[in-house]
Amino acid sequence: MAETIFSKIINREIPAKIIYEDDFVLAFEDINAQAPLHALVIPKREIPTINDASPEDAELLGKVLLAAASIAKSQGLAERGYRLVINCNSEAGQTVFHLHCHLLGGRTMAWPPG
Ligand code: AMP
Repeated sequence: MAETIFSKIINREIPAKIIYEDDFVLAFEDINAQAPLHALVIPKREIPTINDASPEDAELLGKVLLAAASIAKSQGLAERGYRLVINCNSEAGQTVFHLHCHLLGGRTMAWPPG
């Protein structure tokens, strides 16, 4: 499996603004923020896309979602609301093939997305 830019961030080979870390999950600010808060929450173990996740990954994926919610709460967004997005493959616009959950908040967002 080819190493992605997110592995390099996990390994501190390239810089990122890290906002949360535990043994299983890392979160950092998106370099091209689309909202006042735009973080990427990733499992440290690489799973290329959600298509590649297996039942054994359920707990890890749960940790990713719980970390995202915890960050949103800590940033005061729990009541206002926020959006979690996981893009999968080309039509969804996935560009980095290390599964990641976008956490977007701090502004009103349209639905449906474009
Ligand atoms: P996706 O299009 O769902 O694959 O999202 C990939 C995201 O990674 C995009 O929103 C990029 O702006 C973001 N990104 C790419 N490289 C970096 C980086 N070095 N640091 C932070 N975010 C990045």
